[in-house]
Amino acid sequence: MQEFISQHISFENRIELTPLCEHAKNNKCFISTKCTKKFCFYGFSSPFLIQFLYQKGGEQVIKAYRIRLLPTQEQEEKLWQHVHAARAVWNWGLNYQMELFKNGEKHLSAYSLRKVLTQVKKTDELNWLNDVSFHTMGNVLIDLGNAYKDFFAIKPARFTISKTKKAARTGKKLTPYDLEGHPKFKARRDGKFKFPIRVENTYFVNHCVNVEKIGKIQYQANLKRELPQGKDACKVSNPRIKFIDNKWILSFGIEVCENQAPPLTDNSLGIDLGVKDLAVASFGGKQLTFHNINKSKGMQSLERKKKHLQRGIARKYRTNGNYNKTQNVVKTEKILKRVESRLRNKRHDHTHQTTHKLVSLLPYRVVMEDLNVSGMMKNKHLSKAIQEQCWAEFIRQMKYKSEWNHIEFIQVGRWYPSSKRCSCCGHIKADLKLRDRMYECVACGLTINRDFNAALNLEMYRYVSPETTGQTA
Ligand SMILES: [Zn+2]
Repeated sequence: MQEFISQHISFENRIELTPLCEHAKNNKCFISTKCTKKFCFYGFSSPFLIQFLYQKGGEQVIKAYRIRLLPTQEQEEKLWQHVHAARAVWNWGLNYQMELFKNGEKHLSAYSLRKVLTQVKKTDELNWLNDVSFHTMGNVLIDLGNAYKDFFAIKPARFTISKTKKAARTGKKLTPYDLEGHPKFKARRDGKFKFPIRVENTYFVNHCVNVEKIGKIQYQANLKRELPQGKDACKVSNPRIKFIDNKWILSFGIEVCENQAPPLTDNSLGIDLGVKDLAVASFGGKQLTFHNINKSKGMQSLERKKKHLQRGIARKYRTNGNYNKTQNVVKTEKILKRVESRLRNKRHDHTHQTTHKLVSLLPYRVVMEDLNVSGMMKNKHLSKAIQEQCWAEFIRQMKYKSEWNHIEFIQVGRWYPSSKRCSCCGHIKADLKLRDRMYECVACGLTINRDFNAALNLEMYRYVSPETTGQTA
């Protein structure tokens, strides 16, 4: 397909984005082109379209935001009302669909279900739903419809392993509800408090966000990342509010058109992830080291606090006998949750800062290793340290941040000898141990930091196609 297009279109000259073709009239073609050979984008997959837009230079990216809301007491009550209503509506919708299935009737679409809800809402039992935004409930039903869509896509339908085992043990009969991927009822004790809000009425004014039926809620402003203020200033997508770690968080996406990609430098960037340091990078032959935050004093004292609390809870459980949860245990668990969230947030922040610093160097490409994380996790001495480093998250962030700046991102195969090869002469040291912190080359006598050597090798990485391996390695 790529070849076909490059034959027919030269991207720079002949294309103008004008909706002219017949598919465009029916809203089926996203873009149509006015070139010497008429070209229509009907039926093209979206990754291709995105690539096409990149090449045009005008790129539409949805950037995700998470901001903290600072509601007043009155608003908080309303937020809780919405949380409970969203859960109630989900459970009502699920129950309704399951009853339909039991009676041999047809599955309803989200929109038909919404119509039913409008009628049901008039009864006394669900009268209280009138205080809540109806669009929130509509969106919950759409979520439910999507969950059902995913469930129907699983073929062949099968029971979950845990349910089959339980059925064999207890002799309980399995129902369609136990099928893999079937939407599940939500309970308050699950501790997931969230709900979608109406897109059309979501906008930012004077560092407040307008939410339907709740009003203007103040948010914690970030001066570096100011949100577009005003009713029609930006197009918000998929806004949701959730209550997590005792905070109200609004997450949403904003469609931004970024024409100006910053000019890139001629240097390549090689990054070697490690346990001792989070990352050792090589940029134009210079060494950059990013420390491991888990070894800092603050983090270690938090870790100690966490362990202390965990031990306390376990002990209280045991001495209570019968493993009863007393108020004292509940109280300690709350403190533990706070400590855990603090640890998590600190790690998250550190990963974001590191990846941002690396991308801000503006290399023309980024080379990283494709790590066998699950294999390394089997090493019991290292598994905790590896888990705390959040490598997968690091790689994910590097990927999308590179994409934003039009930087090429390369992940080198697992068997590329980045740490075993000498960055100076290319000699491969087969018996390199994990404890050797310095790399000493037998052939040329180079002595260099082991991680920096690996980063240098990654920086200088050259793609070798499978046919030519052996000759150029
Ligand atoms: Zn050497």
